[in-house]
Amino acid sequence: MRKLLLVVCLLLAVPAWAQTIVIRAGNLIDPATGAVSKNQIILVKDKKIVEVGANLAIPKDSAVIDLSNEWVMPGVMDAHTHVTQSVKYFRELDHNYLIEATGQRALRGLYESQILLNAGITTVRDVGNDANFAAVDLRKAIDAGWFVGPTVQTAGKIIAPFGGQSRGIPQEIGPFWRFEYYDADNPEEIRKAVRENIFYGADLIKLVADNSDYHYSLEEIRAAVDEAHHAGRPVAVHVLGGEAADNVIAGGVDSIEHGFFLSDEQLRRMKEKGIFLSSTDFPSVHFAAGEFANAEKIGAAIIDRLQRAYKVGVKLAFSTDIVTDYKDENRAQMTWDYLAVWRAAGVPNAEILKSMTTNDAELLRIQKERGAIAAGLYADIIAMPSSPLDDIESLRKVDFVMKNGAVVRKPR
Ligand SMILES: [Zn+2]
Repeated sequence: MRKLLLVVCLLLAVPAWAQTIVIRAGNLIDPATGAVSKNQIILVKDKKIVEVGANLAIPKDSAVIDLSNEWVMPGVMDAHTHVTQSVKYFRELDHNYLIEATGQRALRGLYESQILLNAGITTVRDVGNDANFAAVDLRKAIDAGWFVGPTVQTAGKIIAPFGGQSRGIPQEIGPFWRFEYYDADNPEEIRKAVRENIFYGADLIKLVADNSDYHYSLEEIRAAVDEAHHAGRPVAVHVLGGEAADNVIAGGVDSIEHGFFLSDEQLRRMKEKGIFLSSTDFPSVHFAAGEFANAEKIGAAIIDRLQRAYKVGVKLAFSTDIVTDYKDENRAQMTWDYLAVWRAAGVPNAEILKSMTTNDAELLRIQKERGAIAAGLYADIIAMPSSPLDDIESLRKVDFVMKNGAVVRKPR
């Protein structure tokens, strides 16, 4: 046992990134263009990609990983997740705020994010519902190297008009939702909530614009955007459609989250302004399993607006928003269920891959660090035995994952 411990300690003492790693990539996909280069060599050192090319000299003493029969691409990103939140039914979300403390949320975030990384999802943007900044603690723990996990960005507490995303709460119960949300009901309160979020560690600002019968005005959206952009943070806004979406688009946010009922005209304005659609394309079976009202109808609306958004040419950001447990699938398997919705909307496979890498990296403002396999970027690399350009469901078979230059899993 002591011997084993010593070996483990020695392994830990020599970080994987001290050595050059050579990856032989049989088929290397560039999701930005959809192009495939055959028989490429990727050199990785000190967490980053050093060089990529066909005839590179192999440095002495390098470790070679043979992916000659694999399809290699950058790690997948999810622009809208809630890794610290999980319920069986959507209606249980309020209940969860009351029975789960921040510590438990952080541990769930660690559990879920490890499952996601192991499946090839190497970056997640957590957009709130993490109690008291549990996802900030998760990010810190992973960044410190205490645990293996994806790159985490977090929104902190969601900023919303009075009541957060709760409904039908009796007045005498009190505003328990403030465990998860900032109530902010005018531009000054919004500015304060943005600043508090940034102070406590938020990488982006998340607003919910239209969860109630009232919604944010253009002036209120502009206050959030002004304050967040001056601090270098993008603004993500939950909005479904109608006048609220008009205000959100005119206010110059970075992404619309969901947008299930956006009109063609609104999509055109989004394209003009370069606003991403973070489309959270729930399969209707997930909605139905979580007992969400009108699951079939909303499922159809989601497919229809994704199809229209693609036709208009809006920048699409792959995102999921999974908060419920479905059958015996884990969260990574549930993520891949979303691919069927993209296929049903007629989005080509190359465009789906671009949405989950190139586009997400741009929205998350990390395109100079991640989202491509190119010299100077962090080595977030995945591979699978068949081409996702031919069959997007190949992503379910990811059998190689590298995160920041360290091998998370290899083909057997
Ligand atoms: Zn969400």
